[in-house]
Amino acid sequence: MPGDVHVIDHPLVQHKLTLARRKETSTNTFRRLLGEIAALMAYEVTRDVPLHEVAIETPLEPMVGKVIDGKKLVFVPILRAGTGLLDGFLSVVPGARVGHMGLYRDPATLNAVEYYFKMPHDMHERDAIVLDPMLATGHSATAAVARLKEVRPRSIRFVCLVSCPEGIEAFHAAHPEVSIYTAAIDRQLNEHAYILPGLGDAGDRIFGTK
Ligand code: URA
Repeated sequence: MPGDVHVIDHPLVQHKLTLARRKETSTNTFRRLLGEIAALMAYEVTRDVPLHEVAIETPLEPMVGKVIDGKKLVFVPILRAGTGLLDGFLSVVPGARVGHMGLYRDPATLNAVEYYFKMPHDMHERDAIVLDPMLATGHSATAAVARLKEVRPRSIRFVCLVSCPEGIEAFHAAHPEVSIYTAAIDRQLNEHAYILPGLGDAGDRIFGTK
């Protein structure tokens, strides 16, 4: 369905998100919580990935089981904060491929400029899951998905921890068919493009750079 927004309101996700938001949460704890939330969100995000049947034997008898083909998934963290979600996703789908994308905003033109882009080959056979903790203005997410579309993955989903109405609207204006998975839709952006109440700068909180 175009313009889908899935708010993952599982109590464990909400509990851990509240702990992560607190300003006194240490870098170490923040990073751990992000990983745990990402693993929990991965259950929802992968809910409808295709299964295929395989013949196996249990200790008692043969049976036909179902498996996913993890290699058909590609996780695409947007550098740098997106890497904070990557390990959680890989912990539940260890066979997934990983593509990295680095973009920065040119302060003069305000355009997103690519500085790194490395995807697995055969993207047209893979379902891409883009990872970035904060959907704020939506500029970098929109630019990242536009760039990803150039290599034609089979499908694209966008996962963030915290979003806001402005970011969702901007993102879906550009990419109406890409579903957003988020743990929270916060109130608004402030004048510095931070989400309120938010959790601050996700990259700084993951890496302890402030
Ligand atoms: N990026 C962040 O890390 N935090 C925000 O609130 C907005 C963008």
